[in-house]
Amino acid sequence: MKNNISQQLFEKAKQYFPGGVNSPVRAFRSVGGVPVFMEKGKGAHVWDADGNEYIDYCGSWGPLILGHANDKVLSAVSKTMQNGTSFGAPTRLENELAELIIGNNRFLEKIRFVSSGTEAVMSAIRLARGFTGRNKILKFEGCYHGHSDSLLVKAGSGLVTFGNTSSAGVPKSFVEETIVVPLNSMQGIEEAFVKFKDQIACIIIEPIPANNGLLLQDRMYLQFLRDTCTKHGTLIIFDEVISGFRIGFEGAAGYYDIKPDIVTYGKIIGGGFPVGAYGASKEIMASISPDGNVYQAGTLSGNPVAMSAGIAQLTECLKPNFYQELEAKTKLLVDGLSEIHTNNFKVFSIGSIFWIAFTEKHHIKAAEEIDAESMRYFKTLFHQLLESGIYLGPSGYEVGFVNEAHTSADIQRTVEVFKESLI
Ligand SMILES: *Cc1c(COP(=O)(O)O)cnc(C)c1O
Repeated sequence: MKNNISQQLFEKAKQYFPGGVNSPVRAFRSVGGVPVFMEKGKGAHVWDADGNEYIDYCGSWGPLILGHANDKVLSAVSKTMQNGTSFGAPTRLENELAELIIGNNRFLEKIRFVSSGTEAVMSAIRLARGFTGRNKILKFEGCYHGHSDSLLVKAGSGLVTFGNTSSAGVPKSFVEETIVVPLNSMQGIEEAFVKFKDQIACIIIEPIPANNGLLLQDRMYLQFLRDTCTKHGTLIIFDEVISGFRIGFEGAAGYYDIKPDIVTYGKIIGGGFPVGAYGASKEIMASISPDGNVYQAGTLSGNPVAMSAGIAQLTECLKPNFYQELEAKTKLLVDGLSEIHTNNFKVFSIGSIFWIAFTEKHHIKAAEEIDAESMRYFKTLFHQLLESGIYLGPSGYEVGFVNEAHTSADIQRTVEVFKESLI
């Protein structure tokens, strides 16, 4: 595989950006080697700067549920752009996207558009604190919620801990308001509510945890969290930045049929443009400025170009059988890969999300159950796949995404390449 041009671009990028990148995982540190610089994408395929072609399962980390450069998204965007790219004033497109979302979701009455998943979560946390008048928040080890200060925390030792900061630059006093509990632990939750009774503003969870492997929870556990929150006047936030519009149009809330108090979205909602959103009941959203006293704003919030991309993409998602077909296609891939048994190779999946792991376990529900040692197998596999034209996110902790544009030929080819690489 030629990669001279990617190498040259990376050398240059290292002069400009820390690690040569604008988001850390892109630097290939966990798999080694030189990041592939992308040049173009169409459907399920991408081409790098050296002209190599790949079947892409990263999908820009989840947003591209229709694949790259989807014609309907492109034409909506270019039509909108002809009339200007931003006004900092309301446009009809915000109403249209909101109507599409709220009209097809049983769990939301009002939303607010922002520009990233991080911003959506940060705002949702502020809303939960403002609404309840409480300071502490509870998160789970193994869930990622973007890079705002109070969420850059990891568990200390013990079942219920205040987080240790997982980044320099986050004051200890911030993370002292963040309680960290292992996923799938009822005892941890019960202890936390004994210790911090009436102080916990919200529990935040990825109802389908997909940022540290795929740590699928039992429905019963999510219901337990819902009930615990109701009992204590705590809000439950479903961070659906990945799962929203991916596991069905109503995301994990719809899939499990559990009503969260606040939901956050990102990724798919913007059709490949920078959009995030948070939403809740009218009553909770009444706390947001200018109706209420929880401040939140954005120069490019509800940007018309991004809104039209979101409208075009979500309109496709709402077509009959969209998710059934996506799931059936993913099943082809997962069934094909499940015939491989080398080094305890396993594929975990839900909807159109899949995760490759090397483990003896048949269920993995908490971060601590992932064997860091096994990542060396992923590292080798990743490069073999890359050489053979399959592009995965460059870390064994990341999930892959099947999108509408993957053909059965793509899936077949992928299964073949995995077999050649692993057996
Ligand atoms: C990606 C992600 C975020 C952060 O979104 P950005 O757009 O990268 O800021 C937050 N929460 C979850 C669950 C995510 O997957």
